[in-house]
Amino acid sequence: MKRDMDINSVNHPCFNAKARKKFGRVHLPVAPRCNIQCRFCDRKFDCVNESRPGVTSGVLSPYQALVYLDHVFEEKKNISVVGIAGPGDPFANPEQTMETLRLVRQAHPEVLLCLATNGLGIAPYIDELAELETGHVTVTVNAVDPAVGAKVYAWVRDGKRVVGPEEGAALLIERQLAAIKALKSAGIMVKVNAIMIPGINEDHIVDVAKEVSSLGVDIFNCLPFHENSGSSFSHIKEPTKAAVTAVRKEAGLYIKQMTHCARCRADAVGCLGEEASEGLMEKLKACER
Ligand code: SF4
Ligand code: SF4
Repeated sequence: MKRDMDINSVNHPCFNAKARKKFGRVHLPVAPRCNIQCRFCDRKFDCVNESRPGVTSGVLSPYQALVYLDHVFEEKKNISVVGIAGPGDPFANPEQTMETLRLVRQAHPEVLLCLATNGLGIAPYIDELAELETGHVTVTVNAVDPAVGAKVYAWVRDGKRVVGPEEGAALLIERQLAAIKALKSAGIMVKVNAIMIPGINEDHIVDVAKEVSSLGVDIFNCLPFHENSGSSFSHIKEPTKAAVTAVRKEAGLYIKQMTHCARCRADAVGCLGEEASEGLMEKLKACER
């Protein structure tokens, strides 16, 4: 389906707050596996009532995603961004991720392509991402100090090797910082998400902001930890609004802040904060078959 929209980088509702009421995004849930274990993560693959990252009503193959996208464009005329944000990590499922991007780029040359990743496995794909004109990548960096990272990550899988918290965090951080540099060299807009977890990394978020700012990151998104009962951080409470505001203010001395993140599902569709229609969720499930 060809669409007639005037889309450019300022029409990304996450990278530009002014665009968020006018333009929407769709996440294609094609990446179910993950290559690390964040201790706060609780992925759910069939939950229509919950709105947070890692949750989806279905997982699609690249071709199924392309068919679903036609349904989305039929119903929503203001979608400017097609992204992949899990429900796992795009580069723990690189074949599915890259094939989806190729298919979408071929069928819809006008859309902005976007990815959200932990950064561990993205490096080998950066050249092709640039060729496909993937304009926006979000890397979630919860620590730049391995000692802090060891409290956030239970393990990291590098190929067939699984490494524990300290070594895993050191490896992940090294890869993330190298990937950010390479993405910026390739001319891609980079957002860094950092999840502020009380008692774990809340005093370290500004250090993350400083470090990634020095690498040329475009915008920084400090997200409050989302309480959930299914993770090993089930005992931790969400930080207060005042605490998040204070950290954002200090981090803002070093890098531009995003403050309108809606902590979207892996199958989010529409403007930020908008609930997906039941009709589209049904279409997503039908495409999965
Ligand atoms: Fe979950 Fe994302 Fe962490 Fe993977 S990178 S464990 S999907 S939060
Ligand atoms: Fe944008 Fe935040 Fe939603 Fe990601 S989770 S699409 S950054 S609003």
